[in-house]
Amino acid sequence: METKQFDIAIIGSGPGGYVAAIKASQNGARVCLIEKEYLGGVCLNVGCIPTKTLLAHAHVMNVVQSAATFGIETGPISFDFAKIHARKTAIISKIRKNLEGLLTANHITILKGKASFSSQTELKVQGEDNVIVSAKKIIIATGSVPTDVPAFPCDHKRVFNSSSILEWSSLPKTLAIIGGGYIGCEFASLYAAFGVRVTILEALDAIVSLQGKQISDALTRAFVKKGININTKVYVEGIDHQEDGLSIRLKDKPPIQCERALVCVGRKIATEGLDLNKAGLNVDSKGAISVNEHMETAVPGIYAIGDVTGKMLLAHVASHQGLVASSHATGQTAHINYDAVPAVIFTSPEIAMVGMTLEQATQAGHAATIGTFPFLALGKSVASGETEGFAQVVIDKNTGAILGAQAMGEQAGTLIGEMSLAIHNELTAESITETIHAHPTLAEAWPEATLMALGMPLHFPPKHPRTLSQEV
Ligand SMILES: Cc1cc2nc3c(=O)[nH]c(=O)nc-3n(C[C@H](O)[C@H](O)[C@H](O)COP(=O)(O)OP(=O)(O)OC[C@H]3O[C@@H](n4cnc5c(N)ncnc54)[C@H](O)[C@@H]3O)c2cc1C
Repeated sequence: METKQFDIAIIGSGPGGYVAAIKASQNGARVCLIEKEYLGGVCLNVGCIPTKTLLAHAHVMNVVQSAATFGIETGPISFDFAKIHARKTAIISKIRKNLEGLLTANHITILKGKASFSSQTELKVQGEDNVIVSAKKIIIATGSVPTDVPAFPCDHKRVFNSSSILEWSSLPKTLAIIGGGYIGCEFASLYAAFGVRVTILEALDAIVSLQGKQISDALTRAFVKKGININTKVYVEGIDHQEDGLSIRLKDKPPIQCERALVCVGRKIATEGLDLNKAGLNVDSKGAISVNEHMETAVPGIYAIGDVTGKMLLAHVASHQGLVASSHATGQTAHINYDAVPAVIFTSPEIAMVGMTLEQATQAGHAATIGTFPFLALGKSVASGETEGFAQVVIDKNTGAILGAQAMGEQAGTLIGEMSLAIHNELTAESITETIHAHPTLAEAWPEATLMALGMPLHFPPKHPRTLSQEV
């Protein structure tokens, strides 16, 4: 096999790997990016982009369905899911092609094949390209894959995982989703919008429980209103395949019948076949690769970024970790602030959060208080008919520090950016209330929520109205 020399070799071209490659190349390194499947990784091919493309279709469907509220007559509404599927596939291909162009323009060598370690500085690549890569530094960005449950394996005909469900070009009448985390809930929201009768089966006592009780309760209420069945505290023991569908066996409860099932019970860190031991590397008890603040592993010169580190399984975290790793590998410095990482759940209604919840802030010893401003009280929301939801800010009463923020409703994911900036830059409540926000916009909810936390709302009745005697 031919040997090729590089300064930095990166394994995996997801949002971690390809961003790391661009940064390293910008910093003057000779870089190769090794990918065994599709450029763009999970995020572009079977994660963020396909799901958000399909959710955009669901959004259009919702808008058209509510057209009559705006005095617009549409007649009967129908959809062709095969066309929706085709548009999603075309969008992924287009972005993948653009990504290839971007990498080539940045002088990055793309190697197509599966990489495994031969030593701390050498990789064997096997596939379309067959080559030995010798590199001064190596970045592992191999991501994660859906977890398979031996008791009810995915056959990808009736029982699907988060990747194979994206191949659907027609819809079932009923769908059971095993796992009510954020990915399961996004799929529930999506298929319910197209009229599929969705049942979520969750072992814990709430859906999206990692996001805190308030968010979980609010999403549960919204889902129930949309007709999504939510069964919590249920333990799936197995799935029986029947002639006309599936029977999902539950512990101590009657079985649930459905046409198709989606297994969404978590992600497995992808290190299989890397031969990490040949580089002197181990994985931790969760199967993840441990790293320091520079994203460097226990072996100097070998870095790990993205899902494979098991830190926060989000695309933007992977990309930022990529910037940190490549900066360090090329003699520069960059930092990551895990306290200011926004997370968005693209359900309908959309949910977004950053920093601490009120409970977390109180537990951490802050004199924490919260201000929640309902979209119902916002001119822009009323005008656009999107009054479901709120924006809320958690602040420290003593210092005014912004500790966290949550939003639910229209554009929550876009809105949360302002609070990420505030938390990352350690801004105070005053910085938000003194910043002029354009009117009428949804962003006006932030100063209003902050004023509510301070007990001085402008566009919401005060909690404790002044009495006449106070006024004289
Ligand atoms: C359905 C779904 C929806 C999601 N939605 C969002 C969202 O809206 N927002 C968000 O922030 N996150 C979302 N995520 C999570 C996000 O996709 C991941 O956090 C992100 O893709 C992780 O990036 P990564 O670079 O670590 O790895 P990945 O994107 O997993 O890419 C790893 C790449 O490495 C390649 N690879 C693995 N082993 C080898 C090898 N030995 N040799 C060569 N190549 C190899 C793989 O083929 C893959 O292409 C979603 C995930 C799913 C499943």
